[in-house]
Amino acid sequence: MENRKVALVTGASRGIGKAIAIELARNGTNVAVNYYKDEKDAVAVVEEIKKLGADSIAVKADVSNFDECAAMLEIVKKKFGWLDILVNNAGALSDKTLKNMTKEQWDFVLKINLNGIFNVTKNSLPLIREGGRIISISSIVGLSGNFGQTNYAASKAGIIGFTKSLAKELGKHKITVNAVAPGFIDTQMTKGIPFIRRRIIMAMIPLGRTGTTDDVANLVAFLASEKASYITGEVIRVDGGFSF
Ligand code: NAP
Repeated sequence: MENRKVALVTGASRGIGKAIAIELARNGTNVAVNYYKDEKDAVAVVEEIKKLGADSIAVKADVSNFDECAAMLEIVKKKFGWLDILVNNAGALSDKTLKNMTKEQWDFVLKINLNGIFNVTKNSLPLIREGGRIISISSIVGLSGNFGQTNYAASKAGIIGFTKSLAKELGKHKITVNAVAPGFIDTQMTKGIPFIRRRIIMAMIPLGRTGTTDDVANLVAFLASEKASYITGEVIRVDGGFSF
């Protein structure tokens, strides 16, 4: 157990984060499961990970709050001693055209999706060992933009700039820093999209289906593995060819 790698996955109580946490555990990694509101679901993920033979804890923290992130990393340090893999996955939406967007909606999304990356990564850095991995979940919306998502697109594009810069800073420690840009993935986040809009989106996906959380988790697990040790500063799409 002592030789296992240690990962922290933010927003791992459900959706893409949950799939990532479980896939990393399947590969023999101990995983700290961050959540903010869904304690019950986070504890269920921890139990699932333990059944796979890895160790795990659920750690509550609002990623938009720096002090809560510092406290979370203290808990991770006490439990596991160090970190090898950080997955910045927690994210949220609040869609409106810029004309109708309130300052609260702008701040809400930027604070979670972009400030959250700073808060968690900054507090994780002292714990990440040589050869470590930092993987952040961006979005194809951060590359292409999207109607009604100026706040979300700005936050996801910001993650890409952050990733490319940090990759340059951490190369000397053999720590790789990459971003993953999912397309349309079936989760709670995309559940509310009306049927008609979904049909339009489907027509723009050459592979003819929406993505699964495992499609994203498989790419993250690859980037976290030794096989990806010469990839850094990249943003990799996992979107079935979706272009809009
Ligand atoms: P989801 O099902 O809504 O899950 C979001 C996760 O983030 C939950 O575990 C939630 O935890 C956590 N979270 C939200 N606010 C938080 C906060 N302030 N502090 C800590 N955790 C917080 O969404 P998802 O689809 O799995 O999305 C995961 C990531 O992928 C996001 O960054 C999203 O932007 C990105 N993404 C998703 C898609 C897609 O099509 N689904 C596409 C591209 C990118 P609690 O419930 O415990 O608060």
